[in-house]
Amino acid sequence: MQALARLYEASHGASTPQEIIAQAVQELFAGRIAVVSSFGAESAVLLHMIAAVDPATPVLFLDTGRHFRATLEYRKTLAERLGLQNVQDILPLGEMLKKEDPFGALSMIDKDRCCFIRKVEPMARAVAPFAAWMTGRKQFQAATRATLAVFEAVGPRMRINPLARWQAADLKAYAEQHDLPVHPLTAEGYRSIGCMPCTRPVYEGEDQRAGRWAGSEKTECGIHLSGLTDRLKNLGASDQT
Ligand code: SF4
Repeated sequence: MQALARLYEASHGASTPQEIIAQAVQELFAGRIAVVSSFGAESAVLLHMIAAVDPATPVLFLDTGRHFRATLEYRKTLAERLGLQNVQDILPLGEMLKKEDPFGALSMIDKDRCCFIRKVEPMARAVAPFAAWMTGRKQFQAATRATLAVFEAVGPRMRINPLARWQAADLKAYAEQHDLPVHPLTAEGYRSIGCMPCTRPVYEGEDQRAGRWAGSEKTECGIHLSGLTDRLKNLGASDQT
């Protein structure tokens, strides 16, 4: 799959996001692809592009139970406005929550474990039936994403980042051109929006994702890291290629 990812990167990586999405949804992974969305600050652009190609594309939303109320309301608004036909709320396993986070305070004690229970494990379950999934990650978001490729192999599956090479100005122009609804918290300085206990507004000169897990070493929840591959293996998810 690594070789295939490199091949796709060479042949399609420099295409426009709309062309990449159309290729992926209608040809390369037709009927076997989903998109993962946090319905965060910049989610509208990718979802609008996908809806234009196929509004029935499965949209996987990790409902951690820790989102801002504004995010849950925005999820509804955006899904209705774009005509998304298949938004799936992916929940953590009840028994895992009961056993490991009975009081809902795990994010204060062990953020990695909290993210595993609420994001990584549910994400692995959600993408297991698909051969590929799309994300809204961009190179400019953080130093840790500066070399992000459009096509990435994740075990036997493909992760596709159609907006990887877009800049903030491209997103802004697209959102304005299509009059896309904005996440209400962006007006308060939130530029990357995750769970409420682990997100703060971003200050002038900071990375877009500086408000996530601020004050800790943590920079990613784990759904884009190797832990996901390990979890997929543990689930015994079959090769989708
Ligand atoms: S972002 Fe925070 S609250 Fe959300 S799953 Fe991770 S540690 Fe828990």
